[in-house]
Amino acid sequence: MVDKEEESEEKQSPFEELTKQFGDILGKMGANMQIASFPFTKAEETPQTEMPPEEEIDDREALKRVKNFNFKPKEIKEYLDRFVISQDEAKKVLAVAVCDHYNHIRNIIAEKSHRKREYMKQNVLILGPTGVGKTYLVRTIAKLIGVPFVKADATKFSETGYVGGDVEDLVRNLIKVANGNVTLAQYGIIFIDEIDKIANAADNGRDISGRGVQINLLKLMEETDVSTMSQTDMLSQMRTFMSFGNAKKPPPDKINTKNILFIVSGAFDKLSDIVKKRVGKAQIGFGTIQKSMDQDFEFLIKAQTEDFIQYGFEPEFIGRLPVRVACRALGEVELEKILSSSEGSIIRQYQEDFGGYEIEVSCNGGALEEIAKAAAQEKTGARGLLTVLERVFRDMKFELPSTSIQRIALDREAVKNPEVYLENLLKVGDEKGVDIQGDMERFVKAFEGNYAIYLNFTPSAMEEIEKIAHENQTTIVATCSRLFEDFGYGLQLLLRDGERKSFEISREVVQDPDKFLSDQITNFYKQRGQ
Ligand code: ADP
Repeated sequence: MVDKEEESEEKQSPFEELTKQFGDILGKMGANMQIASFPFTKAEETPQTEMPPEEEIDDREALKRVKNFNFKPKEIKEYLDRFVISQDEAKKVLAVAVCDHYNHIRNIIAEKSHRKREYMKQNVLILGPTGVGKTYLVRTIAKLIGVPFVKADATKFSETGYVGGDVEDLVRNLIKVANGNVTLAQYGIIFIDEIDKIANAADNGRDISGRGVQINLLKLMEETDVSTMSQTDMLSQMRTFMSFGNAKKPPPDKINTKNILFIVSGAFDKLSDIVKKRVGKAQIGFGTIQKSMDQDFEFLIKAQTEDFIQYGFEPEFIGRLPVRVACRALGEVELEKILSSSEGSIIRQYQEDFGGYEIEVSCNGGALEEIAKAAAQEKTGARGLLTVLERVFRDMKFELPSTSIQRIALDREAVKNPEVYLENLLKVGDEKGVDIQGDMERFVKAFEGNYAIYLNFTPSAMEEIEKIAHENQTTIVATCSRLFEDFGYGLQLLLRDGERKSFEISREVVQDPDKFLSDQITNFYKQRGQ
């Protein structure tokens, strides 16, 4: 379905013309500030968002999605297990909070009487170091349910909304992610990271007023109406202004935040010290805890409202975050598991990237261990994996697509010294990197599947193909496809209906495939003529 608004965006000239006229009018009215900003630029940043790709959905479909919410906490946890490694406690807590929240919404949509009942929204606070899956958990849940998801860093907000972003932009961003559907946006999820940075503690080192931002966010988390258009976003104001003239119902000018789920997160570095002081070392069984990251976790899970208040949060603000959970730091074992068993493993992305050049990537156990070990040293959680893989693959990504090498098989040594591995691969590429036999088999199989003709390559023919591929810096499969481009159609002429046939391909055939093909056809017709 093409939306009227989109249509008007495509035909830019009338819009631009109107924009100019509008600017002129404002100019005559003395509104110099607005004129200075023509042509309009988007006042809001493109939101960091994730939602299942889809066309616009109408209100009925949006409501249906929420009304039909029928997940059980265990199902959500099982789904999360496919993507997110470890963090079992966070998975359970989030799954329950999300089910409670959307069950409640489903009920208030279904029964009016439900609306009057007291309900404490299940906004969640997730504690834990960077890169351990806090965002990933929430994003994955939003995808599963099919509600819009927006992420922002608390540090970009300022008290007045002028310096950084305005907290209300978060809600408007939800509408953008919901492709303009305000009904769906009001059931979305807003994720705010680095929430610990808006604590009002004297030593948090920021010059923003944490208290002011907390109060602004508090209003959103409770219930407030937010204008669907930003004061500074002239472009959307223009659009609405223009939509009055056409049949399309203008979008609601307000969105209520009552049913938006807020999930906030932060590392809360110094919170563990506060908890530690309160509970005392003895009660926690300090002696049995080995690593400092684990120590932090053990204290963070014991954090209570009073600790957050001491950290610098307003009691009302922290009170609006009733569900709290901590994520663990990821050790080598978990990082290795992310590589080997998460459906969203970053290694798959590299495999796909190289797959685009018909290069296969595999890592043996030693390689995975080594990548995880190096990533753990980065101390950035799973983000360290990306850093390490980028270092390992950077030069390979540049060099290998232009060679006939079709296989990268990483082992521990290759991860430690990717430059040396690449050098060797390029040097002995034909013997080590290219699996001629395997590549030829792949080509033969595909050809047989397409044309019901089996090409039987002699060893000397394979040698010749390998030589040609090497000379042309291309792959075996690409070389075969080029050399035998006409064989499928040509040789099929020689078959009766349903017949399958095999042809021997010698070195001479590889050297002059056209001659082979025309000889075959000539012989065939000669025989038929006799
Ligand atoms: P943060 O905890 O800082 O919010 P993210 O959730 O954004 O970190 O993690 C960054 C990326 O690292 C994710 O997109 C995901 O690919 C990967 N990742 C992080 N933690 C995990 C995990 N526990 N299991 C699988 N992948 C993870």
